[in-house]
Amino acid sequence: ICDQVEDPKQAKGIVKRAVTRILTPGMVFDPDTLDELTANYICSYDEKSVSFLDSTTGEAFYYLISTEAERETLLQALGPKEVVLPNSLFIVGKEKNPKRYFSEHNSDEVFNPDWPQTSNLLLSYAVSMQGESLLQLITRFQKRERFGKMSLPSTVIKHLEIFENYRGEKEGSLFEAIRRTKTSTGSRLLKRWLQFPLTHLQSIEDRLNEVEFWYNEMSLNQEVRKHLSFVGDVERRLGKISNPGCHPRDLNSLQTSLRAGLQVIESLGKRFPEDLKLLELQAQELVQKISSIIVEEPPVQMKAGGFIQKGFRNDLDELIDLSSNTQKALSELESREKDTTGISSLKIRYNNVFGYYIEVTNTHKDKVPEHYIRKQTLTNAERYVTEELGQLEAKVLSARTRRIEVEIEVFEELKKKVLSLSSDLLRLADYWSEIDVLSSLAWLAMEENYCRPGFLKEQKVELKASRHPVVEQEISHSFIPNDITLEPNGCMLLTGPNMAGKSTIMRQVAIISILAQIGSFVPADSAELPLFENIFTRIGASDFLTEGLSTFMVEMTETAEMLKNSNEKSLVILDEIGRGTSTYDGMSLAQSILEHLVSQSHSLTFFATHYHELTKLSEKFPEIKNSHMRIREKNGEIEFLHTLASGAANRSYGIQVAELAGLPREVIGRANEILKGLESGKNVEKAQGEAESAQLSLLSMVQPTEEDQEKDRLLSELRSMTVHEVTPLEALNKIAQWQQSLS
Ligand code: ATP
Repeated sequence: ICDQVEDPKQAKGIVKRAVTRILTPGMVFDPDTLDELTANYICSYDEKSVSFLDSTTGEAFYYLISTEAERETLLQALGPKEVVLPNSLFIVGKEKNPKRYFSEHNSDEVFNPDWPQTSNLLLSYAVSMQGESLLQLITRFQKRERFGKMSLPSTVIKHLEIFENYRGEKEGSLFEAIRRTKTSTGSRLLKRWLQFPLTHLQSIEDRLNEVEFWYNEMSLNQEVRKHLSFVGDVERRLGKISNPGCHPRDLNSLQTSLRAGLQVIESLGKRFPEDLKLLELQAQELVQKISSIIVEEPPVQMKAGGFIQKGFRNDLDELIDLSSNTQKALSELESREKDTTGISSLKIRYNNVFGYYIEVTNTHKDKVPEHYIRKQTLTNAERYVTEELGQLEAKVLSARTRRIEVEIEVFEELKKKVLSLSSDLLRLADYWSEIDVLSSLAWLAMEENYCRPGFLKEQKVELKASRHPVVEQEISHSFIPNDITLEPNGCMLLTGPNMAGKSTIMRQVAIISILAQIGSFVPADSAELPLFENIFTRIGASDFLTEGLSTFMVEMTETAEMLKNSNEKSLVILDEIGRGTSTYDGMSLAQSILEHLVSQSHSLTFFATHYHELTKLSEKFPEIKNSHMRIREKNGEIEFLHTLASGAANRSYGIQVAELAGLPREVIGRANEILKGLESGKNVEKAQGEAESAQLSLLSMVQPTEEDQEKDRLLSELRSMTVHEVTPLEALNKIAQWQQSLS
């Protein structure tokens, strides 16, 4: 942003302009333009630490790390908008993720020797971009621990559609399905909880106890939620105050937030923690102060003053009186001059060049007295000044200028006071956010009929009438709840037709585990779960073609990561592994992956497959339990029951599902013929041969007609035509030819 950097009144010649602020994805000008549910982090890292800072909210924290993988997990989970690196680490172009935005910044500035170098660098960068006032908002970098928390890999976040659905939209995500928060700060906190579910049992139980309290106290919950809806975004409102462009209205917005927050505290009564009482008093004082200083509706333009209340400072009141009294004196002078000169149309006016002047139209020019000094001649009027008018003008202008000066002074002092309290206010905001998330989770549990989960010492899953929280809200028909049991270190091998609900049920278990470990109630009648330390998923096809990876390569890379890191404390979800290659390669891979998970990783595993051959593995591995999604078959038609049952499915029903999807009748008929051939026990080469000849006969079924051939010829001629090389006449002739050949 470029601006004038000197006072135009003082400047000689052209007013100097300069770049006054640089905006980047991480350093924004107006926080109102941001998504209120997402933090706007800038981040910096080295081998020892990763630091994050959100200049719009004042949130600043760091993690100590020891490996590059830890750093990458944090970057993926928190998704900074911009990465700031010193010259020595600046690697633009070499970075794996081309979507990340990088900035270079070098500084040895040390704001606090206790913070890691990356935090100091980050703050120095933010100040260089936004100015010193940021230092009043960001007074500390909090050390955050990864201990006791799971970091969900980005693949899991994507596969389970936690923040976005598979199309990249927010609707249809888990976050949107469970979000009942009333404040943006609360929503951002809920997001953080989902990014880092807890693995420490007591911390989870503490949250669950709170949710249960709010669940049992619904009328208090309702009252608090009503107040919370007026709290707004305390963090971003404070952030705006640290911005150079802060307006008196921003102070009023903060005041409204604090006032509503104080009402939350009042409703909480004795539940409000003792150690925050002092902060409550400070907030009360601040609300008082802002409302006694700033007028209720400050003018948009600050240039003319008028934003500080009368009665706050005596000297200001005098200046306000003086400026309005002189206004009165000016109108008195105007009527006096009209009387003495007898010019009824005489007017006292103001402009920036001459200041105040008396304007007389040419008709009355002769009546102008001698002591009038002419200043300017217009076509139909003359402009004059008098000594008296000059004196009055000096009085008015000085009162007005002083008034604005004093108002700005008062405003700046108040701003300083607010910012000096910012770390305390941010602590209060954190408290309100937590109340918001906990009470909203209870609200969700009440609205959607969730239950409190329990945790088992064994690695065992026992869900009664469990549901998928997103699918059950999205589908028009009713969702069929399912009991899901998995013995310690067991593996559920799921078979059943497409569309039967295999993916849904597996995701359901993973999502319920995540919800339980953030301290939320879960969609089930009862839920007993182990404490998972990590979750891995491999679901569906995801192509990263822009990054040079094919579907199958992505699938195998993700599986490799999963096999390397999973252990008996992991939950593993594998949906249709090995589908992207030949049947035999795929099936062999699927079997060896499954064997590895059961015999080496010992993780709790859900494995959905269409390779029915794998169901035999349950004879060799007692951990493997065959299950299937039930369907009902009547007169060759199938109905999905979406119910989980034990035992393997007897067949795939792929052809029936394809028929439901509307594949042409000939194709379905031919597929059934081929299937019969394959099922009648012919060897594979023969079956393969049949499949090929089937393809040929399919092709013969759709032999192109003469007209089709003609159209193809025209199309290829059209495609190969080099348009810029033909003249308009040649083109017209060509079109005429084509038309003829078609008729
Ligand atoms: P595919 O093998 O083709 O991936 P699938 O067996 O994994 O199929 P899902 O994708 O899980 O099937 O489910 C298909 C659809 O069935 C879902 O989109 C949902 O609309 C519906 N569905 C799944 N489970 C249930 C349920 N328990 N109750 C009601 N509807 C369900």
